[in-house]
Amino acid sequence: MFGNRFKLIKLFGFQVSADPSWFIVVALVTWSLAERYFPQAYPQLDRPTAWGMGVVGALLFFLSLVLHELSHALMARRYGLRIRGITLFIFGGVAEMTDEPPTAQAEFMVAIAGPIMSVLIAVVSFVVWAVGSQAAWPVAVVGVAQVMWWLNGVLMLLNLVPAFPLDGGRVLRSILWYWKGNLRWATRVTSAIGSAFGVALIALGVLLLIVPPGDLIGGLWLGLIGLFLRNAARMSYQQLLLRRALEGESVARFMKTDPVVVPRAISIAELVENFIYKYHFKMFPVVDGDRLLGCVSTREVKAIPREEWDRQTVGAIIEKCSPENSVDPGTDAMQALAMMSRTGTSRLMVVDGDRLLGILALKDLLKFFSLKMELEEAA
Ligand SMILES: [Zn+2]
Repeated sequence: MFGNRFKLIKLFGFQVSADPSWFIVVALVTWSLAERYFPQAYPQLDRPTAWGMGVVGALLFFLSLVLHELSHALMARRYGLRIRGITLFIFGGVAEMTDEPPTAQAEFMVAIAGPIMSVLIAVVSFVVWAVGSQAAWPVAVVGVAQVMWWLNGVLMLLNLVPAFPLDGGRVLRSILWYWKGNLRWATRVTSAIGSAFGVALIALGVLLLIVPPGDLIGGLWLGLIGLFLRNAARMSYQQLLLRRALEGESVARFMKTDPVVVPRAISIAELVENFIYKYHFKMFPVVDGDRLLGCVSTREVKAIPREEWDRQTVGAIIEKCSPENSVDPGTDAMQALAMMSRTGTSRLMVVDGDRLLGILALKDLLKFFSLKMELEEAA
């Protein structure tokens, strides 16, 4: 889901990272607090204090986002689910789960853990704010505490909208799942609500843009969040269907058993002319007789200057077999698919030691999936 991210800290064994888009939000939140919110709420503040409060407020807010995601992650771990890590990005945070919850109860507990943490933070900040206002504590403390209970309250309310994949949507999904015992149906219902909610946000964003006085930033922001949610809702449903169709099937079932192979002794020019341009694949296995040596892809070819293509052989640019380009025949098809999406490849070699058994192509997996969907719909 995310490209280059920055590793921030490790908490309870979970890597917390930030997508570059997150830094925009940090800057925006700090600026809004320091230049807009605090000076309006407390007109007596001088500018440096307002900025100090802005920075602290933004940091504490992002700390509460991390704590929210950390609660999801810790609860998920209790149920034996694997978590890739916690990532902060433009719309908040996400605890990236690689597994689906095994039961409705597990899903409910994992989903509710985050909002409960947000409520706790909101309550603590509210108490600090209320006591501090009565006891005339410094404005810096009282002001930041007020922003914290307010932001965390909003965060909790937004998250509890029953639109999948928001927390509230997951809670609803777990309840529907428990009720009817049908995860697919529960996902379809809650992701339809998720899509509709996304569309409603987009409409609201457009309204904000066009109705005078017109709020450019607010409108764009809502519109983007709406697009993101709608997309996420659709993808989650498709992913569930895909998982259902492919999980438990080994790659051996989908591979093409008699793939085009490249002998190691031919030149790179021949590889380009007689293989890449002929078959339109980006990757070919390289063999020496029956023995698999590795593979060669357009990436390695590109690294060699064109005038050397006649002189160099394929053998010189072989990429050894690795988990990036090959799988063993027993691998779960869903796992292979996850690997393809991680590395951006569409073909993997299926290998047994130094023997090439076949090629697994993304295209074939998807074809199988669409056939299965078609027949299931008919049934
Ligand atoms: Zn959450």
